[in-house]
Amino acid sequence: MTTQHYYTTVGSVRGTCGHEHRTREAAEACIERDGRACRRGHGPNAYSDRRVEERERVPCWYAVATFGSGPYAMPPRGPWNCISDAEDAIARWRERAGSLAGTIAAAHTVRLVGPFHTRSEALDADISDAPVVCSL
Ligand SMILES: [Zn+2]
Repeated sequence: MTTQHYYTTVGSVRGTCGHEHRTREAAEACIERDGRACRRGHGPNAYSDRRVEERERVPCWYAVATFGSGPYAMPPRGPWNCISDAEDAIARWRERAGSLAGTIAAAHTVRLVGPFHTRSEALDADISDAPVVCSL
């Protein structure tokens, strides 16, 4: 898994913009917009003290991957951005599916996989190559 980065802006007075910009240029443009807002509010000498910070995107998306699908109550796919949410959803599925849950897990190799950097990566997880958190 490759490390992904994003860019945000921070300043001790202006705080952070809270965005996860894909490029440094986009973060710099964000600072320019913030600077214009400062000048509108506080006069021509005001400026934004934000600067660009590059941060590592922490992979945090999990999903359920199964081998094949069935006509019955398959487990929820997610994705979820923490393991405990995934476990809660899986526990609710087990309650709904009852005794069928074990049969489904055995027949479809149900695995909780992750972490992935993005939601869509988690949804595209392939059961054969995904990092496995646990098998159900
Ligand atoms: Zn921003």
